Amino acid sequence: MAIESTYHRILSPVLRDWISTTEEHSTPVGLLACQREPLLRQLDATIVTSALSSPPPPAKGKNTKKAVLAPTISPGEICLEVSLSDTVIFPEGGGQPSDTGIIQTSDGTVWTVLQAKRHGGQAIHYVRVHDGNVDGALLAFTPGAKVKVELDRAGFDRRYDHMSLHTSQHLLSALLETRLQLPTLSWSLTSYPAPCYVEIPRGMTVEEVTMIQEEANRLVLEGRQIHVEVEELNQESRKPVERLESGRAVGRGLPEDYTGGVNRVVHIDGVDRNPCCGTHLPSLNNLQLFILPHTDTLSRSSTTVARLNFLAGPRLIAHLVSTHTYLTSTAAILSCGTPNVPERVSQVVDDRRNATKRIEEAELELAKYIAADLAREMQGVDTIFKKHIHRTDDSGTVLPFLTAISSAFSEAVAKSGIQVPYLVILSSSPSAQMATNTNVVFILGSDDRRVKEVGGALKAKLGVKGGGKGLKWSGKFTGVWKNGREDVAVDDILGSVL
Ligand SMILES: [Zn+2]
Repeated sequence: MAIESTYHRILSPVLRDWISTTEEHSTPVGLLACQREPLLRQLDATIVTSALSSPPPPAKGKNTKKAVLAPTISPGEICLEVSLSDTVIFPEGGGQPSDTGIIQTSDGTVWTVLQAKRHGGQAIHYVRVHDGNVDGALLAFTPGAKVKVELDRAGFDRRYDHMSLHTSQHLLSALLETRLQLPTLSWSLTSYPAPCYVEIPRGMTVEEVTMIQEEANRLVLEGRQIHVEVEELNQESRKPVERLESGRAVGRGLPEDYTGGVNRVVHIDGVDRNPCCGTHLPSLNNLQLFILPHTDTLSRSSTTVARLNFLAGPRLIAHLVSTHTYLTSTAAILSCGTPNVPERVSQVVDDRRNATKRIEEAELELAKYIAADLAREMQGVDTIFKKHIHRTDDSGTVLPFLTAISSAFSEAVAKSGIQVPYLVILSSSPSAQMATNTNVVFILGSDDRRVKEVGGALKAKLGVKGGGKGLKWSGKFTGVWKNGREDVAVDDILGSVL
């Protein structure tokens, strides 16, 4: 296991002694094997400490950074907190989430590392205890015992994705800074497979995005090398984070609770040098950068901040695969080639808009016929005209149609000069008999007392939720509308009104 290489350069000789292989102490965060050799998957290590984990109390308030991927330990999960002489499992830091992996103890048992965290300057592995056997687990993790710590397939894929995006973020931020004088205010390594983003003080034009992307990919094509320099941390390197006039911090400083004593700077040859504790790929090879060609503008406190989304590495491929799948399946539905999808979709949207308009017009016309029929039926009635009409309608919005019938009916009654009081219930339900159906009921009458009374009865007998004012009342209920049940209930209600 190389302590120094062209990738990992130790500037303060004392640091060589800090890298540990025994139970005497743990290698501090900043010098971990995963930070010295980012592609290393497996390491022989010695247990330094182990203890039963006491889960932290649930975080208070809202977690505003919910987009950030962090493996969580479910409540009730029993874990050991284990520190090793050294590790290939990266504890979260620098905006990069924790790795997951496995530890194999000397008896051959494989233990899951759910996450790793930095405590001060030390990497702590959260190891899942099998079947609640805490004593057995503590015995297996006795300090001094030899173990194998490993990024398994899933753990390495996860880490490779994080490294690809973290290194790309350094490249992107450096180019934004040097080419456009745009400082990176913050960045987020979002949950797979969403694009990651950097936050910058203003939006960017499409030309600027293209220029930065081309510049980045020229450096990728050159395969610029990356290396890390580490030295002993002194007060000089602990300088405070730069702030904008608005008071907003630019980037991240060294965490205040970091006690590892290592100052670590990540270099992309000829492009960038940046203090960071994350794991970074040894070169820009294959790190094609894709910037989503727009910026989202967010208003936050006094500063307007724009968000630039980007992708690289395996996540970029996953993004291409999923967007291609969306596009080809849409093209298949539309029976056209993919380049014609936008045109065909806008055509479909137009057709739909026209069709909706025609339906509305046809409904208005139909409403008049239904209203005219009702008005005709009223002639010859001399006490009170009571009528229930039930319709089957699969439209998602039936209320406008029922309202149209009601308006047309009021008009027709007014025109005919009929003076008889009336009470009409219109109801509508979908054709399929499903328990999740929404059924709509509409009442119109010639006086508000009766309308209110029928509304109240519908609430009581059918569980209709609704309300109204004056001569109209509307409501709905969920469930199956059955002839012989709901129909009869409505007829009973109408019958009982005097
Ligand atoms: Zn970084």
